[in-house]
Amino acid sequence: MPTLVLDEPGKKIDLSDVDTDPPNNITKEEAQERLRALSDELFELQDLLWGARTHSMLIVLQGRDAAGKDGAIKHVAGAFNPRGINVVSFGVPTPEEREHDFLWRVHRHAPRKGEIAIFNRSHYEDVIVVRVHDLVPKSLWKERFDHINDFEELLTEHNTIIVKFFLHISKAEQEKRLLEREKDPKTAWKLNANDWKEREKWGDFSDAYEEVLERCSTKNGPWHIVPADSKWYRNLVVAEAVRDALKPHRKTWQEKLERDGRAREAELAQFRAQKA
Ligand code: ADP
Repeated sequence: MPTLVLDEPGKKIDLSDVDTDPPNNITKEEAQERLRALSDELFELQDLLWGARTHSMLIVLQGRDAAGKDGAIKHVAGAFNPRGINVVSFGVPTPEEREHDFLWRVHRHAPRKGEIAIFNRSHYEDVIVVRVHDLVPKSLWKERFDHINDFEELLTEHNTIIVKFFLHISKAEQEKRLLEREKDPKTAWKLNANDWKEREKWGDFSDAYEEVLERCSTKNGPWHIVPADSKWYRNLVVAEAVRDALKPHRKTWQEKLERDGRAREAELAQFRAQKA
């Protein structure tokens, strides 16, 4: 099954029917080769985005504990020039954040023109973990799907290119990864008893994610369901989707940079002529 990309609302998804494994027609070596080749292309596209300053990009990463959000960020952000990247992690809201509406802390990190923001967790936690743990009344979080769609539409109107990823792992793979962390003293710092507690609510999290995918998949902000049991495939899918979202703008950015270049040349020529 190819990676599922959802770009309109209303489609019911049953996550237990969606593959977490890579398809059979690709090997790890092929994927790694394709990812290496992509690196240069991503770097070049980011350079154009940065120079043209007409657009920005927002990458949203969601997934269960140990789904690989950090790994995906390392690989995708690693391809870019750090100058134009901002990685933001959203944890439990601070008292100050709690005294505002749920989008307040998010909106201030929306990327400015030329920049790429990568959200490690996001405004979607406010309809996922908040729902699973009953942190606010249902009547309140139910309203948030519309607020999120409006928010993303607003960002799109301001030329933000949005791509959203749900890193989809199986329950067995999650258990394997959590246990591996315990075996390796180098990764023991990642241990968190809460991950095991959240795991007991696997079905509730599935329900929450399924509603997000159904309600908040739009042309402006498509969701990609990434089979994430293999890290090498996950990295490739995310990198290719980011490239595919940037690429349609390549020509207009190039043209703008050429126009800007000619204008600067003319200014310089005028300056020299005045001095002569
Ligand atoms: P991660 O698990 O992403 O590596 P942390 O261990 O810091 O990072 O966990 C962040 C925690 O913050 C997660 O359990 C997540 O569910 C929680 N969180 C994020 N946003 C919210 C929110 N809006 N309300 C409550 N909890 C949240």
